[in-house]
Amino acid sequence: MQTHTPNALTDALPQEELFFDRPMSAYTTIKVGGPAAMMMEAHSAQQVARAIQAARQRGIPTLLLGNGSNLLMDDAGFDGLVIRFGEAFSQVKLEGNTLTAQAGASLMALSRLTVEHSLAGLEFAAGIPASLGGAALMNAGAYGGEMAHVIRHVDCLDPQGRAVRLQVKDIGYGYRDSRMMREGYTVLSACMELKPGDGEAIRRCVQENQMHRRNKQPLTYPSAGSFFKRPPGYFAGALIEQAGLKGCRRGAAQVSELHAGFLINLGGATGQDFRSLVAHVQDTVEQRSGVWLEPEVRIIGRRGA
Ligand SMILES: Cc1cc2nc3c(=O)[nH]c(=O)nc-3n(C[C@H](O)[C@H](O)[C@H](O)COP(=O)(O)OP(=O)(O)OC[C@H]3O[C@@H](n4cnc5c(N)ncnc54)[C@H](O)[C@@H]3O)c2cc1C
Repeated sequence: MQTHTPNALTDALPQEELFFDRPMSAYTTIKVGGPAAMMMEAHSAQQVARAIQAARQRGIPTLLLGNGSNLLMDDAGFDGLVIRFGEAFSQVKLEGNTLTAQAGASLMALSRLTVEHSLAGLEFAAGIPASLGGAALMNAGAYGGEMAHVIRHVDCLDPQGRAVRLQVKDIGYGYRDSRMMREGYTVLSACMELKPGDGEAIRRCVQENQMHRRNKQPLTYPSAGSFFKRPPGYFAGALIEQAGLKGCRRGAAQVSELHAGFLINLGGATGQDFRSLVAHVQDTVEQRSGVWLEPEVRIIGRRGA
């Protein structure tokens, strides 16, 4: 297998923007993953477009990284360019009921900001440790709310690297799904429409949601949230529990005792531990209930998905 040498992109991108061999375990909430051959912090749309184009021309795989809260990386790392949307790409503007933010903005911080302004719509997002880009792409949601309900439009790069604005009706949102995700768009920023509401009721709703999370989710362990999508008509966690898999381990990866939909890292788990636990859970649940659990978490190999 070809390995991309550290200087594979330095002719096209400023040397000072590239970092080499950063451990992906430090950039994912599940704390798993070997080194990324190259990584850069997004700071402008033009820079991101240039990087994607340069990588494509050289056949170098790219991975767009938000807060890493829905990713399981390979123990061997990622042999390509990781473009990270974080603080350097997180400007936020609130005008009346309209909130516009860059992809690297923290979804939880946006939720807090709207609560402070008694705006309704992002209460569901209070406990989701996502970047806005990742959440808009995957249509993150909880407690009856989801990104599709608040997004007005998204500015992105299309699969050819052209800047485009997608109105919500053209995004094809579904359950943890979007056209942007299926076709390989890059989210640069999103514009959200909120509703003026009763500040006290909004605050109470957020508190109740957060309390529910604290009681029901294993938040003291590294994880990527619910590992599997909800199969139509079922709950993944309930199926896993009914299959007797609560507490089941492979190495240091475990099906949470508290919430069977969460696969947690007990400390030092490898990608391989998680992959073999995932396969065991899928096979066992299918045998017991005839339902195949599809991961919600994006499982990324050394050369990409
Ligand atoms: C404790 C915990 C609780 C959670 N609860 C919920 C929940 O209630 N509901 C829910 O939906 N999810 C939940 N999640 C999962 C996760 O937070 C969401 O899936 C979130 O949308 C991922 O955002 P991210 O920025 O971390 O994306 P990442 O994990 O960094 O990336 C996820 C995917 O998005 C892509 N991506 C990231 N940024 C961009 C961009 N700018 N443009 C294009 N593609 C991009 C990546 O390439 C990858 O394919 C939870 C996770 C944890 C750890």
